[in-house]
Amino acid sequence: MPEGVFDAQGCLTEAGFARIGASPPGRAPTELAAHLAQCARCQRRLLASAASPSGRPAPRRQRPPVWRTAVAVLASLLLVMMAIVMLRFLTVAPR
Ligand SMILES: [Zn+2]
Repeated sequence: MPEGVFDAQGCLTEAGFARIGASPPGRAPTELAAHLAQCARCQRRLLASAASPSGRPAPRRQRPPVWRTAVAVLASLLLVMMAIVMLRFLTVAPR
């Protein structure tokens, strides 16, 4: 297996994409082409690189910070509680 074309998760690195891009159509290294054929993530990155002006695969999206996830969860819980309170308000019989 060529060095440096797969990352720790077994996906193609930028060097791997460069090797595929440099090879003529139908002549890409077999293991790189085989991985690209069965990996949706690398296919997305390759398509995104074709659309990006730099011509390089888009960097992997960073994981959102934990505080942002917590804010989203708390906001969701707040909305659910508001919905329950409003439902109760709607079901109380008028005096
Ligand atoms: Zn992959």
